[in-house]
Amino acid sequence: TSEPTERRPGFLSRLLRRETKTVTRRVLDDDMLEQIEELLIASDMGVDTALRVTANMAEGRFGSRVSTQEIKQLLAAEIARVMDEVARPMPLYPDTPQVVLVVGVNGSGKTTTIGKLAAQFKAAGKSVVIAAGDTFRAAAVEQLQVWGERAGVPVLTAPEGSDPASLAYDALTKAHAEGADLLMIDTAGRLQNRKDLMEELAKIVRVLRKVDPTAPHNTLLVLDATTGQNALNQVEVFRQIADVSGLVMTKLDGTAKGGVLVALADKFGLPIHAIGVGEQIDDLAPFDPQDFAAALTG
Ligand code: GDP
Repeated sequence: TSEPTERRPGFLSRLLRRETKTVTRRVLDDDMLEQIEELLIASDMGVDTALRVTANMAEGRFGSRVSTQEIKQLLAAEIARVMDEVARPMPLYPDTPQVVLVVGVNGSGKTTTIGKLAAQFKAAGKSVVIAAGDTFRAAAVEQLQVWGERAGVPVLTAPEGSDPASLAYDALTKAHAEGADLLMIDTAGRLQNRKDLMEELAKIVRVLRKVDPTAPHNTLLVLDATTGQNALNQVEVFRQIADVSGLVMTKLDGTAKGGVLVALADKFGLPIHAIGVGEQIDDLAPFDPQDFAAALTG
């Protein structure tokens, strides 16, 4: 558990602080654009996306006099526009049980996110089952059991070191038999051995499809927003080893550098289903582009 974290001021507050003392309006010139680009890059937006966002923001306004407040609003609007495209809750299809495969590197917040999601679905009246598919990490299984208890959701486990695909198969069969609405499957996050992980995930998918050819219905990639540009690499790698359908961005409470979300949206266009904003069970929120843009530029 942690103290509730206050969102740190976004990158533009720095520009504002610098500007308001001396000038209130200034010409939107190359120098100004460069400053903005630098701030966006410092927010982890990446160079390409920062340049694109700045250019779009300045379009038709280059050479005019603008206040920093106006720049802030223009940038927020442009960022919200980009993020609107990807802000989508996880789709739920009519057939049950819906299978949600959860992937991501260790430490990204997979376990926590599964617990939070389970609690949300439970509160929405759905019956949920969790499968502890990271069978090689006893600590991960224990942690997931703790979250299952918190959420009031059963956690299916298998002996340490056993085949995760076999657990996934049993879990889906059981979820079917029990008429569960949702099965969430945790997976290993050992990217060190990419080929093994790829085979492991492929096998899980293969056996799930023996029970239900439409499974998994969602493959969520959990990303730690504080890892900055690393998150981009992780998307590239995980898209090669799994059929990622959407993202959950964790630890947005711990960073003023959420710019990486804009880079992700710009580069991959994968839906962002939810954001983690703390370590507690309620700390998972829908992704709101307006709020996000306001916080980032604030
Ligand atoms: P896993 O290895 O991917 O399963 O990651 P965990 O779920 O165990 O999370 C790793 C650490 O990140 C834990 O200490 C969590 O409490 C923390 N964590 C997860 N999500 C969030 C979040 O949204 N905000 C904060 N501040 N911490 C988080």
